[in-house]
Amino acid sequence: NALQAGEAVQKFKLEKEMELRFEVEPRQPLLLELLCGFAEVFGTELTRNKRYRFDTGAKAAVFTWHGCELQLTGRADVSYTARETPMLFYLNVHAALEQMRRTASRGDEDRGPRAMVVGPTDVGKSTLVRLLCGYAARLGRRVTLVEMDVGQGAVSPPGTLAMLSVERPADVEEGFSLQAPLVYHFGSTTPGSNIKLYNKVVSRLADVFNRRCELNRRAAVSGCIINTTGWVRGAGYHALIHAATAFEVDVIIVLDQERLFTELRRDLPHFVNIVLLPKSGGVAARSKEFRRESRDDAIRQYFYGFRGAFFPHAFDLRFTDVKIYKIGAPAIPASCLPLGMSQEENQLKVVPITPGRDLVHHVLSVSMANGPQDNVVEANVAGFVVVTAVDSDRGLLTVLSPAPRPLPQTLLLVMDIRFVDLK
Ligand code: ADP
Repeated sequence: NALQAGEAVQKFKLEKEMELRFEVEPRQPLLLELLCGFAEVFGTELTRNKRYRFDTGAKAAVFTWHGCELQLTGRADVSYTARETPMLFYLNVHAALEQMRRTASRGDEDRGPRAMVVGPTDVGKSTLVRLLCGYAARLGRRVTLVEMDVGQGAVSPPGTLAMLSVERPADVEEGFSLQAPLVYHFGSTTPGSNIKLYNKVVSRLADVFNRRCELNRRAAVSGCIINTTGWVRGAGYHALIHAATAFEVDVIIVLDQERLFTELRRDLPHFVNIVLLPKSGGVAARSKEFRRESRDDAIRQYFYGFRGAFFPHAFDLRFTDVKIYKIGAPAIPASCLPLGMSQEENQLKVVPITPGRDLVHHVLSVSMANGPQDNVVEANVAGFVVVTAVDSDRGLLTVLSPAPRPLPQTLLLVMDIRFVDLK
């Protein structure tokens, strides 16, 4: 954590309901310290006199309800304080959800609130989800975070949907602890690449969550908070309606887009409470490039751990030891489809793949399904490997894996997503 002597130190005094926003420069970590008062980062309370490190590319805000003094050490790309924040609106949403949890825990309702956060990209959806989960955890609730953002998910690598029971607020530096999220394979970073599969997996998550609620009263009372992708038009919009219906959501928070708010009000039953809230002025727009890099970082972190704390394993697998599939056959002209089969069924087809050079760098999900006769599409995954080499002559493929050989299962699902392991 040590920084070079002579690094810039900046002090900030914040009055109540103000926040300090900063962006971290490349290759220049920034240290944040709370000197006095109380402050939080996206719903997680800071410990006084502890130095929190923020790495390259991080964009964050430290908010205080009561006033505080902060210190930044290092050179920030941007750092400024702001008085205008939507935090009071967000706190009110939390209070309303908590009220619903209380009603449920008294037995007046059979379950707590199911909330979904929607809006275009870069409006602070993931941040609000983290905040709401954090506030609920601080009150001892066990909210289920449902991650439907297959591009920039907070609890599992890109190309997946996941569900996590949130026991404590996210770590200030690391985010949510990745212990035991329930993860499902999707295979690409945008729902549009196979919308049929996307909706199918969402329905599956809703079923699993419902079952969890039947077995676990605390989970049922605490409810869920669903994060979504920024794709809100066309099939993306219909995917939101589908998710709202599958999860039987009670509350939808629309960030920053009135049109989306109006459409949802028009298309969903009136008992769904839909609120339109502003985005924070601090939310930074992220370039395509930046998104790609953060996806890469997320995959690297899966294999190497947070800040490189793990050592992944490399080993060979014989082609005959594993079965590799892809979900979704390439679209074929309608006239060529077998009689009685629709293009949509094609999207859920489990297609065997013969390993070849073109598999190199692809991420593969290790499915919990035992064989193609199982329901592969709806099976959760045990983990991931990335293919680093294919030797067709010897019938071997080399993989990078977080755990040593053997793989827990042998059915692998190919992602469109590639990861080049540069170490
Ligand atoms: P979305 O999920 O809508 O795409 P995010 O919640 O991921 O948006 O936010 C985009 C970026 O903005 C993230 O890097 C996040 O850390 C940052 N951010 C969010 N709120 C603030 C804020 N108040 N001040 C500074 N940065 C913020």
